[in-house]
Amino acid sequence: MVPNPYAWINESLATIHRANWYRSVQTIHGRPGAMVIVDGREVINFASNDYLGLAGDDRLIEAGVAATKQFGTGSTGSRLLSGHRELHRDLEVAIASLKQTEDSLVFSSGYLANLGAITALVGKRDLILSDEYNHSSLKNGAILSGATVIEYPHSDVTALKNLLSQRQNYRRCLIITDSVFSMDGDLCPLPTLLNLAEEFSCMLLVDEAHGTGVMGKTGAGCVEHFGCTGKQLIQVGTLSKALGSLGGYVTGSATLIDFLRNRAPSWIYTTALSPADTAAALAAIKIVQLEPQRREQLWANVDELKKLLQLLPKLKLLLSESPILCFQLPSAAAALEAGKQLKASGIFASAIRPPTVPTSRIRISLMATHESTHIQKLVEALLSIYI
Ligand code: PMP
Repeated sequence: MVPNPYAWINESLATIHRANWYRSVQTIHGRPGAMVIVDGREVINFASNDYLGLAGDDRLIEAGVAATKQFGTGSTGSRLLSGHRELHRDLEVAIASLKQTEDSLVFSSGYLANLGAITALVGKRDLILSDEYNHSSLKNGAILSGATVIEYPHSDVTALKNLLSQRQNYRRCLIITDSVFSMDGDLCPLPTLLNLAEEFSCMLLVDEAHGTGVMGKTGAGCVEHFGCTGKQLIQVGTLSKALGSLGGYVTGSATLIDFLRNRAPSWIYTTALSPADTAAALAAIKIVQLEPQRREQLWANVDELKKLLQLLPKLKLLLSESPILCFQLPSAAAALEAGKQLKASGIFASAIRPPTVPTSRIRISLMATHESTHIQKLVEALLSIYI
């Protein structure tokens, strides 16, 4: 009898279980918000990327419903064939206006935006220099492009400069980085990266997935936060975090966007974003621009939590400059156990383990719609577990 060619899958799963790397879903019931029902139990939500609390906002929901009634559920085709609607263009103009860039291009997800941009910009004869902590979509975009990929130590601009100085005869060079590192909460050294890119005639692509709506005075992201608005670079982002919808985008010069419309396979060969998601994202951008108080409340919540966490010197907090706060745990098993204990105390926070990150941790993300009592309950739960 020939061996079963699929048997290795069972063995591989068993290895994942043994390492405590096994992942499973938890069912969230009802609308997303600061409080959610997870697997039948109401808990305070510190596990969401809905930083401004917009995913359950009536205005986004109504925009989505109205667009569905007017334009149907599906876009029915790719943008270049039958899928393009006025709404897509309106959203692209709104993103460019938020970011103060010349133009933007909406993709069906942030993941696809990174894959599309990177594979369009570089190929076999090129070099990508990539932060070692970059998101999976940047890493996989780099691999898919066929370029030579070198990872530099996290945010280490000296190492990056050395790599740039030693760069050989590559046709083009692209530096890729997250702006807010989503599993740590720290920011990339953007001004230095921009200087290096300029000095070494290199392109720079920054993933603003966790920066948009959150960082910068007007919510335009880390580029604004660091005073780099208007500089030549490529920004990628998602509509699915602070903007409460689904989809992704690339934004930058009009030439770049025109080029991507002709060369980014994950934009050309996939169905256009649904009317509901497009309209919801458009409504979210208006709110980001008209209601700075949401962002102010989010940052007030970050300050409040950081202050209270001083009561917990035992927690190994990672350096954070964003609404993402992580504390390190010695093993994947310890992170899973901490996640369970927090949930038993009414707190929903994610246990993040390898291979997603190098070391296991609990990730807490704050929302504008958290109230003081939510934050106090989180700290009480941590105190009861760690003191
Ligand atoms: N980049 C980063 C840094 C992310 O965290 C994510 C989502 N986890 C993405 C890209 C992908 O975005 P999307 O969920 O829209 O595919």
